[in-house]
Amino acid sequence: MELEFIRWLREQLPPHPLLKIGPGDDAAVLRTAGRGDVVVTTDLIADGVDFDLRVHEPRQIGRKALAMNLSDLAAMAARPLAVVVAVNLPRLWGIQLAVELYEGMLPLAEKFNVAIAGGDTNAWDGGLVISVTALGEVTPRGPLVRSGAQPGDRIIVTGNFGGSIHGHHFDFNPRVAEALLLNDRYTLHAGLDCSDGLSLDLSRIAAESKCGAVIDLDRVPIARAARAQAIDDLGLRDTGLRHALGDGEDFELILAVPPKDAEKMLADQPLDGVKLAEIGEFVREPGLWSRRGDTREKLVPRGFEHEF
Ligand SMILES: [Mg+2]
Repeated sequence: MELEFIRWLREQLPPHPLLKIGPGDDAAVLRTAGRGDVVVTTDLIADGVDFDLRVHEPRQIGRKALAMNLSDLAAMAARPLAVVVAVNLPRLWGIQLAVELYEGMLPLAEKFNVAIAGGDTNAWDGGLVISVTALGEVTPRGPLVRSGAQPGDRIIVTGNFGGSIHGHHFDFNPRVAEALLLNDRYTLHAGLDCSDGLSLDLSRIAAESKCGAVIDLDRVPIARAARAQAIDDLGLRDTGLRHALGDGEDFELILAVPPKDAEKMLADQPLDGVKLAEIGEFVREPGLWSRRGDTREKLVPRGFEHEF
C-alpha cells in the first residue's frame, strides 16, 4: 500500500529545482549552493505499531527512533549532520517520558556526532508518537541510491539477518561508518538499509533499477536470533532462513557492487567487526529468484508492509 501511495505522490509532485532525488528512496537529496548536496529523511514510530510502551523502555524507543534515521542516512552513504525530533506524549505519562526518550537518543547522537537541532514536544490523549527528521551531507563520491544496480552486479550485505524481534531492532548500530567507508573505497552501484525484510528490500532495489535479483539461499548470513525464532514458531529446529529473508529491521546494508569491486571488497573485509558477504547477483530479467545449486525458483518477496 505504501508503495502505491509513493507512486501516486511521485506523479503529483512537479519537478523542483532543489530536489535531486525525491520520495521513494531511503532519503531525499537536495541541491545546495554550498558544499555538498543535503540528504533529508524522516521516520515516524508509534506505540502499538512499532513498539509497546507497556513492555519497552522509553530509552530504547528514543534510541531506535534516532537510529532508524541514521540508518537511512547510511543507506544514502551520507554523513549525519543534525536531527529534529517531534514527540506527541500520552498525557498520563507527562514530561518524564520525553526526558527518558532523549536519554536514549543522546548517547547515540554523541557517538555519531550529530546535532539535535530542535523539534517539538506536545501532549495528547493518544499513544506515544515520535518522529525524527535527519539531515546529512553527501560526500564527494555522491549519494548511494536504489536505482543504479546493473545486471551482473553482486549482491553484497553487511552482518546477519532475521530474528530482530529478539532485541536487534532496538540495539542495532546504524551502518553509517561502514557505508561511508565502502562508498569511498569501492564502486557501489546501488544500496539501501534493510528495514522491511531482505527479500522485500532487495526486490525494491531490483524494481528501482529495472532489473532482477537472484539470492543464493545457502549464502544468506542468518542471525543466531533467527534460528531461535524458527524454533519458537515451529517447535523444531530449522535454519532460520525464512526469518532471515523476511523478518526485517535488520538495518544492515544491501548493496549492488560491480564484480571486480565485490571481489576486492570480500577479500579486504575492510569493516571493523562487521562481515561482508555476497549473497547473489542482479540479472537482466525483472523479478526476484532464489537459487540453490542449479535450481532457480521464483521467490515471493516477503517482509513488513504498512497496512492502511
Ligand atoms: Mg531505508
